[in-house]
Amino acid sequence: MVDSNNPESDAGLFTVAVIGAGAAGTLATARLLAESAASGRRISVALINSGADVGRGPAYSTMCDAHLLNVPAGKMGADPENATGFMDWMSDRGRPVAATDFLPRWLFGSYLGEHLSAAARRYSKTGSVRFLRARAIGISDLQDGVAVHLADGRTVRAGGVVLALGGFGPSREWVPAELAGSAHLINDPWDVDALDSVPSHADLLLVGTGLTMCDVALASCRPGRTVYAVSRSGLLPHPHVMPLVSPLEMPLPVGASSLRDVRQVVLRHVVRSVRATGDWRPAMDGLRPLTTKLWQRLSDRDRADFLVRYQRVWESHRHRIPPPTSAALAGAVDSGELEVNAAEIVQARPERGRVRVWLSNGRKLEVAAVVNCAGPEYDLNKVDDRLIRHLLATGLARCGPQLLGLDTTDDGRLVGADRHRRVPLWTIGSLRRGNLWETTAIPEIRGQASQLARTVLGCI
Ligand SMILES: Cc1cc2nc3c(=O)[nH]c(=O)nc-3n(C[C@H](O)[C@H](O)[C@H](O)COP(=O)(O)OP(=O)(O)OC[C@H]3O[C@@H](n4cnc5c(N)ncnc54)[C@H](O)[C@@H]3O)c2cc1C
Repeated sequence: MVDSNNPESDAGLFTVAVIGAGAAGTLATARLLAESAASGRRISVALINSGADVGRGPAYSTMCDAHLLNVPAGKMGADPENATGFMDWMSDRGRPVAATDFLPRWLFGSYLGEHLSAAARRYSKTGSVRFLRARAIGISDLQDGVAVHLADGRTVRAGGVVLALGGFGPSREWVPAELAGSAHLINDPWDVDALDSVPSHADLLLVGTGLTMCDVALASCRPGRTVYAVSRSGLLPHPHVMPLVSPLEMPLPVGASSLRDVRQVVLRHVVRSVRATGDWRPAMDGLRPLTTKLWQRLSDRDRADFLVRYQRVWESHRHRIPPPTSAALAGAVDSGELEVNAAEIVQARPERGRVRVWLSNGRKLEVAAVVNCAGPEYDLNKVDDRLIRHLLATGLARCGPQLLGLDTTDDGRLVGADRHRRVPLWTIGSLRRGNLWETTAIPEIRGQASQLARTVLGCI
């Protein structure tokens, strides 16, 4: 079946397909509506989503009140020009909050859904959005645009496509062969039903000690159960500290282009921050606007070196957890409900009703389930996704620097196998990690959405 949204059928109408309606696809769609209205052009957006409700994605689908935003409310507005938009939305609903509050993530998902509905109403004279609950599995490059092929057999034609696919599931590299096909391995840490199916007092092993582990631990720790967490570093994300201190700005260092130089500059900045404020966090926050520029200056070899030597330390300082989350985890550690190990899994043997696990620090565990809380897989060669496989196989896309996500130009356009072939495909968010490094959180995504909307409308 061919969808009626054919660009040839209405010469004055711009048609864009946005694939993915998590935060990035939702913000990009709202922005496309706003930009087309501002430029006096008509637009029709097909928003294609395989997942949860609009605006949610895995991050904002959780209904657990203990799963908090890790960015304070005052910085989570949907538009780059209005960082306090989320706070204003709360206030309009009779629940005023402080800029420094860390709110439940499901509230933010509701805000994003309403943000898009409001944009659709506001710009209804010039734009419309059609929601398609479907999985995109392929894209064809046509003379006059593109066709998006859906798993249910439909095809959506459009002048351009924005891929807002988010992150892919956790890396499985660590999974021992014996555990790989076992029902005791929960590979999707957001699968609430799978987690609930584990007897409530049976012990669990969480592999990974980052933000995902924190979420699963918060939902799983309880008296009578031990939740073990393991990662090579054993590093948990650092907490934000209250009161929050403003970022300590740093000028873009002149000349620093090797990893060694950049590291020295950053360490000096951290020392300055500790002297001025008593804490390193303002230095990390002040670095954020420069992170992409510094990453792009590094040679391939230095970037690879950074990933091996410093990535985990970087993540634990950069992606911090709210104070209540930190307090709850510390309480669980103190009570023995949570045990964090710096170790590797040497062996994991599923047996009837349990898994026996041997860790490299000598610990032997017996757990009812092992939950994969390793970070997202960014190497798309290792991802089992039809659309990604299709894009790589047809040369419409190629992997990004350091095999992180997809390769893109500065304005988010996909770089394919043939650099000179200009197909109207763009992407936003975590798929741009190899080019930008800092690209997964709302403050970056809303900026990209705004830039992308202008770019896409200028090109199709
Ligand atoms: C647990 C967690 C907590 C986080 N907390 C914060 C926070 O507090 N603050 C912050 O700024 N950032 C946070 N982040 C970062 C987060 O990545 C972004 O804020 C944002 O949610 C990313 O949205 P996205 O749209 O890029 O991806 P996603 O939310 O993953 O959405 C992608 C959507 O695309 C759909 N999709 C994928 N492939 C296809 C296909 N082929 N066809 C159709 N649909 C498809 C998926 O089903 C999904 O709905 C968090 C991330 C996680 C995982």
